[in-house]
Amino acid sequence: METLQQMTKNGQVAHSILLAGPEKIGRTTIALQFAAILNCEDTESSKKPCEQCRTCRLIMSKNHPDVIHLVPGNVLCRGEGGHESHPNSRDIRICQIRGVIETVSRYPFEAPWRVIIIEPAEHLGRESANALLKTLEEPPEHTVFILISATPHSLPETIVSRCRQLTCTLVNPRIIEQELLLRDIPPELASKATQAANKRPGEAIKFSHHPDLIEERIMKLENCKNIINAGNSDRFQYASELANNWRKDRTMVYEELDIWNSFWEENLIRAARTENLTHPAIHASLAGLKAVDNAKNNLDALVMPRLCLELMLLQFPALN
Ligand SMILES: [Zn+2]
Ligand SMILES: [Zn+2]
Repeated sequence: METLQQMTKNGQVAHSILLAGPEKIGRTTIALQFAAILNCEDTESSKKPCEQCRTCRLIMSKNHPDVIHLVPGNVLCRGEGGHESHPNSRDIRICQIRGVIETVSRYPFEAPWRVIIIEPAEHLGRESANALLKTLEEPPEHTVFILISATPHSLPETIVSRCRQLTCTLVNPRIIEQELLLRDIPPELASKATQAANKRPGEAIKFSHHPDLIEERIMKLENCKNIINAGNSDRFQYASELANNWRKDRTMVYEELDIWNSFWEENLIRAARTENLTHPAIHASLAGLKAVDNAKNNLDALVMPRLCLELMLLQFPALN
C-alpha cells in the first residue's frame, strides 16, 4: 500500500500493476483503495483515500462506473455473435477482454483515473492474454490496469514484463490484531477474528464485521473432523453432496475446499508444535493439504467434479 501511495505522490503512476499474493489477504481491497487514492475528491485531507467522499464510497462499494472489477462471468461481455451468456465460467474470456478494450478506447470517463482490476489474472486464457497485451503495450491516458494473481509465475512473461509487480504477503497475527484494535474492534472480538483469519488481514476485517461467520467457521472445521473420523461411506456421501452443490454454486464448493485447507493447516501447526518432526500428524496434514490442492487443480481443469471430490476424500488420511 505504501508503494502505491508513493506512486501517486510522485505523479508516476504505473499503467499496469501486477498485485501478487495468496488469496483472501485483501488484494481486491488494496486495488480498490488504490483506485480511491487516485480519484478521491478530498483535496484537503492528508489521509488518502478519505473514505468519506462520494467517489471513495462508490469505489469501495464497487459501484463506481470508472473502476471496473473484471472477474470470470459476464462482466463486460457484450454477447457478440449472439453467444450464450456465461455467468458461471471459470475463465476470463476473450469476449470480456474485447469489452475492456472497447470501454477503454471508446467511452469517456468522469473520474480523473479509470482503473481496471483483473482478477484472477491466472484465469486469463491465452487468447485473452494476447488481446490484453496489446492494450498494456499502448495504454490509454489516465487508465491503470491492476492484475491480481496468486500464481504470477503462471502468467505469460510478456504480460508480467509490462507490469510493475507488487507482492502482498501473509501477515503476522500480532500485527493483524493490533490493526483491528486500532480500528476500535473490541479486544475479545479482535483476538477471535485474528485467530480465524489465518494470517490474512482481509479475512480478519471480514470476521470482525461479521462475528457470526467466526462461529460458522468453527462449526465447519468441527464437521471436517467428524468426516475424517467417519468411515468411507460417510466420506463418499459427503463427496456426493459437494458434487451436487457444484452444479448449483461453484463458489460454495471452492469455499468448502478452503475450509479443508484451513483444517489441515491447523492440524499441521498443532503437530509442528510438538517439535517432533517425524510426528505422524505432520505427514497426515501434508497429505491432506496436497489432496485439497489436487482437487482444486482438477476442478479448474474441468475434470468430472464427482470424481475429483471423491478422490480428495479418499486421499484424506486418518487422524489420531
Ligand atoms: Zn475521498
Ligand atoms: Zn461472452
